[in-house]
Amino acid sequence: MPDPAHSTLGATIDRILTPTITLDRVTKEFGPAVRALDDVSLQVYPGEVVALLGLSGSGKSTLLRMLDGLNLPTSGTVTVLGRDVETARGARLRALRRQVGFVFQQFHLIGSMSVLENVCTGALGTLRGPRAGLFMYPRSVRRAAMEQLDRVGLADRPFQRADTLSGGQQQRVAVARALVQRPRILLADEPVASLDPESAAQVMALISRVAAEDNLTVVCSLHQVELALSWGHRVVGLRSGRVVLDKPVSTIGRDETMSIYASVASADAAPQLV
Ligand code: ADP
Ligand code: MG
Repeated sequence: MPDPAHSTLGATIDRILTPTITLDRVTKEFGPAVRALDDVSLQVYPGEVVALLGLSGSGKSTLLRMLDGLNLPTSGTVTVLGRDVETARGARLRALRRQVGFVFQQFHLIGSMSVLENVCTGALGTLRGPRAGLFMYPRSVRRAAMEQLDRVGLADRPFQRADTLSGGQQQRVAVARALVQRPRILLADEPVASLDPESAAQVMALISRVAAEDNLTVVCSLHQVELALSWGHRVVGLRSGRVVLDKPVSTIGRDETMSIYASVASADAAPQLV
């Protein structure tokens, strides 16, 4: 008989040591002329907050979209939560996507809808058919949405129209929407690029807090090195689709992080033509 205590411990250790996200020699080409990712290998572990840095055009969005099956690799494999994203189709892909929340630079809220209804739309992946109107959502979804609104500090305005909120508040609603289906991974594509510095810091603090509370794996692209060093556990730097830096924040300094951008001036760093 296996010792149940031992097998539980074994399962726990497996869970901690198994990467949530693995990219193995991933290349992504858009047509014959653009190689957006070039031989990228990366592993991200449960609970890690990875800050993805790189100039515009370096491949950050392409990489993030691969983790949700929105982009498929030209070669190499992307494994998310133990599944090869490329072979996941239909119900399996939907199941995978339910475990992955996505936050975007432009929030992508529906401005004419209430805050609460916007958060409820985050649960659409678990429901059948479209919903129009807050009360078309099951009570359990509305309750879960209120819980997430509370977490992001907006429980006092569930019925306000989303387009009347400030940018920082809108992004906090978008985070609540991403969390409502209790994902294991949170992807954020320049979530604070449209915000003033104070709101940006608030949103990064929020992402960092919920990541710790929910043991989320986070990959977050950022423009600002300071934010990456303040809120990330690890920095991954992309230049022309290649990983040029991959280190824990505790072991790197600002200058080293800036090197992601500095050598862009060199000849090999121009947007790469295949
Ligand atoms: P970043 O997010 O770092 O700014 P992207 O991942 O958006 O970079 O883009 C990387 C490269 O891939 C760029 O050269 C961009 O023009 C190209 N690219 C991205 N998406 C597409 C697409 N759907 N079709 C063609 N080229 C694309
Ligand atoms: Mg981008």
